[in-house]
Amino acid sequence: MEIEDLKVEAKDHVELQRHQLIQLSLNIHDNPELGFEEEKASAWLTGYLEDSGFNVEQGIASLATAFRATYGQGSPRIALLAEYDALPKIGHGCGHNIIAASAVGAAVASKSVIDQLGGSVVVLGTPGEEVFGGKIDIMKSGAFKEIDVAMMVHPNILNMVTVQTLACSSLDVEFFGRAAHAAAQPYEGINALDAMILAFTSINSLRQHIKTEARIHGTITDGGEAPNVVPAHSAAVFLIRALDDDYLTELKDKVINCFTGASVASGARLEYRWRDRDYAPMKNNATLAGLFKQNLESLGRHVEDFDSRFGFGSTDMGNVSQVTPSIHPTIAVAPPGLFIHTQEFASAVVSEAGHEGLMDAAKAMSMTVVDILQPEMLDRIKQEFQSG
Ligand SMILES: [Zn+2]
Ligand SMILES: [Zn+2]
Repeated sequence: MEIEDLKVEAKDHVELQRHQLIQLSLNIHDNPELGFEEEKASAWLTGYLEDSGFNVEQGIASLATAFRATYGQGSPRIALLAEYDALPKIGHGCGHNIIAASAVGAAVASKSVIDQLGGSVVVLGTPGEEVFGGKIDIMKSGAFKEIDVAMMVHPNILNMVTVQTLACSSLDVEFFGRAAHAAAQPYEGINALDAMILAFTSINSLRQHIKTEARIHGTITDGGEAPNVVPAHSAAVFLIRALDDDYLTELKDKVINCFTGASVASGARLEYRWRDRDYAPMKNNATLAGLFKQNLESLGRHVEDFDSRFGFGSTDMGNVSQVTPSIHPTIAVAPPGLFIHTQEFASAVVSEAGHEGLMDAAKAMSMTVVDILQPEMLDRIKQEFQSG
């Protein structure tokens, strides 16, 4: 079959699943589960893939809600990544229900292409994207060593085939002071909350002098128990982000200096720990992005270039993109002015536009699978990856 006929067939096979894919998306959306607790979502997704003839392994990389579902054999091995975790209180304000449903839809639609051209399509269920970096665990388990290409589509307000994301480190910090009666013997106390507030103030001062795209933000998770007791303990979680790893390292030292200074000033002892799940910046594979762009445009969508005014986030897909040729395109499901991680966006991802975004994302991915399986295409993708 000619390439264009194969693409028409792949698109048709996505369309045939319309009802089931929208139902999967709605089920995940209506039952939001936090990172690493996505039991229902992973059961629904693996059930659908198993019924569609995929070989499913549940609980890979020692993560109960991670999975691998494979169809076909041998190389090229094309991974479609599904995320399905939600946000506290906002539910699916990041629209991961669309990421999950479009990945499985594209994979199932790719079956007949795989039957005709060989290779395999692998759905990797990657839990806990929002905070835990589940893909980092899956990488450490070696699951990406056998993958040739990886892609996923994230809902947003514009259609874009390449995105810039920030390197990101998470910091747990605590101050240990001494409790005392806050009115009777305050001079006996060492105020751990004051230490934390001092650190926040220092970081606010630092913020004027950091590079434009860098970000430092945190929340206090323990600020004491009672107003009449000098807080003996305080705790916070911070995220530090930068465009590249070098500046991130520089910034991390400066942030620790703020906490150290607050410790000296207050007398409270500082303890901190960097979590070992740093998010890497996204390395976009332009060859792969170009293929995806043509396919998305053929569906009647206008594709925009990435614009820094659009804002930067971080994703553990960045880590994947450092070891495997990858793309992380976005699909428009809501009008400009609406932003992800909001209640409004959580509604948009199950609107008519949300469903169309899911269908087009699945179609464009399945058509891109056809492209990747053409002679020498994988070599071109890999050559670009190795040279950059
Ligand atoms: Zn998010
Ligand atoms: Zn997201």
